[in-house]
Amino acid sequence: MAKKTPQQQRTIHEQKVRTEVSTGSDKEYQVTPQLFMEYLKRINPDAVCSFCGGDFGVAADPTGKIAPIVATPVPHVKGLGIWLYTASCVNCGHSIFFNAPFVASQVLEK
Ligand SMILES: [Zn+2]
Repeated sequence: MAKKTPQQQRTIHEQKVRTEVSTGSDKEYQVTPQLFMEYLKRINPDAVCSFCGGDFGVAADPTGKIAPIVATPVPHVKGLGIWLYTASCVNCGHSIFFNAPFVASQVLEK
């Protein structure tokens, strides 16, 4: 098998990244703060903050209808980001992140 050129390797990497990144479809916007909180409690009902032992809470976006999403840039892949839902400790603010496309598929495809 021929060795791949750096361009071919980068293209393969970008294809892998794209499969894990939201393409802007609306499913991530359909997850409410309540649905996300129910998901967290279903996965681990006893979860507490690893820093202080407090409880986690889920904020809402400014409309109050969508679980909070942040986007992280993907190094070396211009214009792409990974979308994450956040939950924060209501006692100390320690925050945790969950892959938004994954959670949305788990929450919405029941
Ligand atoms: Zn805490």
